[in-house]
Amino acid sequence: MNYNSTRDSKLCVTAAGAIAKGISNDGGLFVPETIPTLSDDDFNTLCSLDYIGRAKFVLKYFLTDFTEQEIDYCVRGAYSDSFDNNQPAPLKCVDGKNMNLLELWHGPTCAFKDLALQLLPYLLVTSAKKVANGKETIILVATSGDTGKAALEGFKDVENTKIIVFYPQNGVSNMQKLQMDTQEGENVFVCGIKGNFDDAQSGVKKIFTNPDICKKLEENGMQFSSANSINWGRLVPQIIYYISAYCDLVNSNKVTDGFNVVVPTGNFGNILAAYYAKAMGVPIKKLICASNANNVLTDFLKTGTYDRNRQFFTTISPSMDILISSNLERMLYELSGRDDAKVKDLQEKLAKDGKYTVDSQILEKIQEIFYGGCCDDAQTKDTINQIFKDYGYLCDTHTAVAVKVYKDYVDSTGDDSLTVIASTASPYKFAADVLESLGQATADNDFETLEKLMQISGVQIPAPIANLKGNTPRFSNVCEKENLDTTIFDFLKI
Ligand SMILES: *Cc1c(COP(=O)(O)O)cnc(C)c1O
Repeated sequence: MNYNSTRDSKLCVTAAGAIAKGISNDGGLFVPETIPTLSDDDFNTLCSLDYIGRAKFVLKYFLTDFTEQEIDYCVRGAYSDSFDNNQPAPLKCVDGKNMNLLELWHGPTCAFKDLALQLLPYLLVTSAKKVANGKETIILVATSGDTGKAALEGFKDVENTKIIVFYPQNGVSNMQKLQMDTQEGENVFVCGIKGNFDDAQSGVKKIFTNPDICKKLEENGMQFSSANSINWGRLVPQIIYYISAYCDLVNSNKVTDGFNVVVPTGNFGNILAAYYAKAMGVPIKKLICASNANNVLTDFLKTGTYDRNRQFFTTISPSMDILISSNLERMLYELSGRDDAKVKDLQEKLAKDGKYTVDSQILEKIQEIFYGGCCDDAQTKDTINQIFKDYGYLCDTHTAVAVKVYKDYVDSTGDDSLTVIASTASPYKFAADVLESLGQATADNDFETLEKLMQISGVQIPAPIANLKGNTPRFSNVCEKENLDTTIFDFLKI
């Protein structure tokens, strides 16, 4: 299996090449040249395996240049003991009927990013050994909050790598900031920027594709890579949990004719993974894309016009405060029949005018597959409260956006099919807003707020969050969004 660029389908690299580089030199994203399909026999086998077995089974289709031993080593390293009860992605039926929450936050940083970022360092180090000639890998990350911490945790003290994380100084929750600023490890660097996530993401993307900067790294025996979901190595682990969720539904005799999937969406990575799972043969019916007040995707799925020229809102679901959803580029590539020239043209329009419109054929395909909905902070809070009252289930602010859009979808279409909702973070990561949603005042400090939420909900505080108490921040750097390059050079001492 080789990989092409969304902006040049003649470009062809191995999986290791795609993962080690992260993004193509032409600015495009790497995509598999074909999407493998799973047979009935494959699904039978998958259903009989545990998570680690399922992960290995799926990865061997995508990482054909990895040996079986390498895949085994990577998957065991990632999933053997870093998740609660060795269950990376448990499925919980919440309403006794069709509403199943896929809890993706039982890893070391309590957000779904761990599922990918526990595995990515293994994939990357293995890939770099194959293709990077011993160069040191410098991971650059732009984060809206959760990727940063999950990537730091995954890459800390990993041989022959350094990791640099940029987050919007005023765009992450207190707990997210504390998680990042207290990060341990000799090879890590964390920096706030004066700007929002889109500024961080475009800044980082520009650096990746700046030939002068890349040359400077090369002269110093280094090479950039990405831990953002633009890296294929971030996406492929996410396909696994949708396949695994389907197997769990089959094993509990719940599936009749398929199921819908709802995903709280920002950069379009998680929902794109669900799309790939569907393309591989998982009987997913509708993919429901849930957004917060930054509803650029809701409008796009309705009208075919993607327009980022709009007010940017800072919301209580900060990991979805994004106006440029990078992974949509992969979707457009697939749905345009792999038309690299068209994708390139649309992305150039987006860079130049901040908007583009897809043609009617693409729009028709999009609407066949996706449904888009959004809600604001007040509706998010009401939903947290309602779900807790109705089912005794405590969900975080991002998951609540998905639940609200799911309810709206059922109301407006009457389609109450079996449904899997991606539950993307622990409620304790956003404890203050969750507590307020339950009609309670927050306490004087963040840790008392956690305690209070625990008393009211009866839900345990996850250890990685409880253990932050008393940790003093190591990092307090802030830089201008124009100065990412000098900040990077200073840290790398080049
Ligand atoms: C990153 C994140 C999202 C958005 O996921 P994308 O793959 O960027 O669409 C949603 N919820 C949480 C908690 C996140 O950390």
